Amino acid sequence: MEPHPGDVVLVPLNRREEVGVVWDAAADQSVPDSKLKAIAGIIDTPPMRPALRQFVDWVASYTLAAPGEVMAMALRVVAPGIGAPTTGWQRADPPTEARITPARQRVLDALAEHAPRSTADLARTASVGASVVRSMADAGLLVPTVLPVAPPFALPDPEHPGETLAPDQQAAATALRQAVAARAFSVTLLDGVTGSGKTETYLEAVAECLRQGRQALVLLPEIALSSQWLERFERRFGVAPAVWHSDLTSRVRRVTWRAVAEGAAPVVVGARSALFLPFPDLGLIVIDEEHETAFKQEEGVVYHARDMAVVRARFCAAPAVLVSATPSLETLANVEAGRYHRLTLPTRHGGAVLPAVAAIDMRATPPERGHFLAPPLIEAVRQTLARGEQAMLFLNRRGYAPLTLCRHCGHRMQCPNCTAWLVEHRVRRSLQCHHCGHAVPIPEECPACGAAHSLVPVGPGVERITEEAAALFPEARRLVMASDTLPGPDAAAAAAHAIAAREVDLIIGTQIVAKGWHFPHLTLVGVVDADLGLAGGDLRAAERTVQLLHQVAGRAGRAEAPGRVLLQTFSPEHPVMQALVEGDLAAFMAREAAQRRPGGWPPYGRLAALIVSADDAAGADALARDLGRSAPHAEGVEVLGPAPAPLSVLRGRHRRRLLLKTRRDVAVQPILREWLGKVAVGRGARVEVDVDPVSFL
Ligand SMILES: [Zn+2]
Ligand SMILES: [Zn+2]
Repeated sequence: MEPHPGDVVLVPLNRREEVGVVWDAAADQSVPDSKLKAIAGIIDTPPMRPALRQFVDWVASYTLAAPGEVMAMALRVVAPGIGAPTTGWQRADPPTEARITPARQRVLDALAEHAPRSTADLARTASVGASVVRSMADAGLLVPTVLPVAPPFALPDPEHPGETLAPDQQAAATALRQAVAARAFSVTLLDGVTGSGKTETYLEAVAECLRQGRQALVLLPEIALSSQWLERFERRFGVAPAVWHSDLTSRVRRVTWRAVAEGAAPVVVGARSALFLPFPDLGLIVIDEEHETAFKQEEGVVYHARDMAVVRARFCAAPAVLVSATPSLETLANVEAGRYHRLTLPTRHGGAVLPAVAAIDMRATPPERGHFLAPPLIEAVRQTLARGEQAMLFLNRRGYAPLTLCRHCGHRMQCPNCTAWLVEHRVRRSLQCHHCGHAVPIPEECPACGAAHSLVPVGPGVERITEEAAALFPEARRLVMASDTLPGPDAAAAAAHAIAAREVDLIIGTQIVAKGWHFPHLTLVGVVDADLGLAGGDLRAAERTVQLLHQVAGRAGRAEAPGRVLLQTFSPEHPVMQALVEGDLAAFMAREAAQRRPGGWPPYGRLAALIVSADDAAGADALARDLGRSAPHAEGVEVLGPAPAPLSVLRGRHRRRLLLKTRRDVAVQPILREWLGKVAVGRGARVEVDVDPVSFL
């Protein structure tokens, strides 16, 4: 069989066979014929289409990643045998005479609806070992059957009656529908205050895309926290969409991938990796919470899914819709320059009003010694609970305390692999590094001076606030929402349901409580440390703090009862606190823009970071020095560093950073390629490139 561009093929490489794709580049004449090997076979799977191949090339070129590395993201689920049928089990009919243990009964119950299931799926659903399933097959209780390849992706019905939209929403929905119907590339920012019904509005664009017979992709920053989003989708379209994220089982991933490739999954909601799915006819990409840093992938191919989504939309001749209550300065600058359209939803849906925000000056009304909640916040929580309403305390820090030190000698408990303190997790009785995962039991004695019971926690984490709240409000039913207390989508969904059903009075949470939740009975949000995010002092610290705290505040007062937000701060006069109290985000962003524009900082200039790492400090210094010496010199180009990274040791590797800063009209990629080509990278050393960096650690 003659291979064509896009075909997924098996090729011999050393002594293995690897999956590859036939590319449409010109043949490389520098490789002699004698070195070429024949393709071992074409895999029976939909070929990679031109728009996706173009996208792969573009991402590789922009991020300076190897094209094969980017292609692998698009092919991750394709392995030899993807076309092969998978075997599952169904109940024997009639059943044989065999002993039915409770475990076996659970397996039979899991098969009650006659849909066959795989061994792994059955074992998980029925909470039994795989051996139970096999023994039932041996006993004749189960019979093997081929699992259907076609997934149960129901077709969302665009005419299914959805919620009634307010006039603002209708106007925005009409504009979005027109953008989809135009079947052309465009970018629109849907900018609506928290609780304005942005989701219901852009779901009308999804409905139009379905009417056009094209596929739609919705990217969410944290798909594990999207149970309420999925419910909204189902209310609008009658069925659930296909979901794509890294926690799916390999079988579901394969089936979903194939359904997308064959056009059988009309709507996909996913994490950033869904951008690389093989849509044959993508007609719309929505990026919800476009300001979220979770869209930036920091490992492997370093890319920003929001920005790459816009590129993918261009290759597919489709509109991209960026959605946020707190748009990033990047996106606002694109609106201002006329590159993006903007639609606004200025008021809350259903007559609800935005919460009143006030600062609590921690210098004027400090908490009791050794405590973290100030008297005005305690009083506000007490009153809220007394009215039978819900309150939330927000602190963006997991664990019990961020630092543990010895009261005798001052020794601080530090991670052996990273430049970071160990964080006490009292529930698990351990000290953990939040960067590398290193964990040790809390020692009885100080490892430096040997004093017994001398280690004390310094500062609060969410566990410590929970302890304080338990003492202050013993009657309140409390729920902690943090990534380590709510592992996975099911736990997060259960928590959201408990809150909506008023089974909880007081929620204590980290940044995951800021994520788009709709809690109608929540009327008070207390921010325990509003200054926390400002400490790092990187380029976007103020912008990110405003976005996060505004999102958290936006959880309050989303139904009839008005909401109230209290910010505990040591600097109530800080522009961030002023912007939040006055609710004037536009003025704040204008001020940010005015600060970044003169120096040519993003979005008014470009940045690329080089992160040098090596097994030892000398190796990292030598390579960083070499890079510094061969730094590019050109008009509109500047190199900052080398300097030790803030995390100068991470997972045992020593790190240095250099920053390339250019004018906006200068392309950084050719400069970076030439620069990197001049420097030899020795054994054990590495240079990672981060174009448009978001994190500066
Ligand atoms: Zn560590
Ligand atoms: Zn000590």
